[in-house]
Amino acid sequence: MTGERSTTVAGRYDALLLDLDGVVYRGARAVPGAADTLDAVRRAGSRVLFLTNNSSRTPDQVADGLRFMGVRASPDEVLTSALATADLLRAEGPAGPGEATGRRRTVFVIGERGIRDALAAAGFDVVDGEPPSADLVVVGWDRSVDYPKLRTATLLVERGARLVATNPDASYPAPDGLWPGAGAILAAVTTATGATPTVVGKPAAPMFRAAVARTGAERPLVVGDRLDTDIAGAAAMGWDSLLVFTGASRPADLLDDVDLPTYAVPDIRSLMDDVPAGTFRPAAPDDAERVALLLDASGLSADGVAGRLGSTFVCDAGGTLLATFALLNEGGHGLLRSLAVREDVRGKGLGILATANAAMEARRRGMARLSLFSETAEGFFQALEFRTIPRGELDPSIRESAHAREECAASAVAMVRDL
Ligand SMILES: [Mg+2]
Repeated sequence: MTGERSTTVAGRYDALLLDLDGVVYRGARAVPGAADTLDAVRRAGSRVLFLTNNSSRTPDQVADGLRFMGVRASPDEVLTSALATADLLRAEGPAGPGEATGRRRTVFVIGERGIRDALAAAGFDVVDGEPPSADLVVVGWDRSVDYPKLRTATLLVERGARLVATNPDASYPAPDGLWPGAGAILAAVTTATGATPTVVGKPAAPMFRAAVARTGAERPLVVGDRLDTDIAGAAAMGWDSLLVFTGASRPADLLDDVDLPTYAVPDIRSLMDDVPAGTFRPAAPDDAERVALLLDASGLSADGVAGRLGSTFVCDAGGTLLATFALLNEGGHGLLRSLAVREDVRGKGLGILATANAAMEARRRGMARLSLFSETAEGFFQALEFRTIPRGELDPSIRESAHAREECAASAVAMVRDL
């Protein structure tokens, strides 16, 4: 059952909204463990909905593709941006917002079968050729787009048709490289007309609203591989999210200017693991003792914890501190120190999220660079794109800080990362 205390990530949510490419499969192959994990998630009672921004395929085609790779899926577990577009426009009424019913709206489509079928099934009159007018122009991914289609779409928008985009993706990741995506085709129409489109697909909200309408979810979890679409979209909705590293985004990307996920894990299998939420808050006065215990257990100095509590952050799981870090301001330069993760929850993304939270906080305070000293975690920080530099090349305020001169062993390496 769902609930905060569930021992699996999936069990804490009533629906999992899963991105496909980079999460469930890569190219033409399923991600290892994806099929078994999704079966286990369903058995445990969580609803599964696959979300894809690709509007060219129908749900049947998407489900067939998944089954071909060995991943069980039914068409009603698939939400394409085409279906979400049809849902959005249908919800406005057959004749459009604020208009009397009785007339079917006409739609000129740049797109493939997925969006054309979805709009026709939703009761729209899909018009082809070179109609003199239309109520709507819907742009999706279309591998046979040509100048006449772009010209017709542009003329219709100039004449008053409302412009709607199934998704904003600039490119499509093909085996031989990036192909122009729906967003690139859309750009031709917006560049020509200056029109501002209604965008449906991730990271825009209509796709997510369509997902909860279909699942009835009250507490969904967005699972994705892209910070700029899956995770940013979930953050804008105020929902939890889980980032996997089997696709586009890498751990180091979390330190750049982004919305942070609730979980950052190697792959989809973590849905059935007991991974704690990696959310951090500023430490409170009564956290001092527990922070000191956590640092002590991690072999770090707990001296002066109370004095720097105002610069300390904690990941608190219902009263148990799972991770902590401190971000000091040394003459305007950021110094990350005292980063510790409780031993029994190491390797579950909390260290990455702690460092990402430190970077976000440092940027918020106007710091351009994060420095640290490490004795045992040089490899961990290298993976997050920190560079090891001679101490002599540190900012003087960091080099001369009490932490550097008195508390750090001489063997600790100095590392920096620009923000
Ligand atoms: Mg993806």
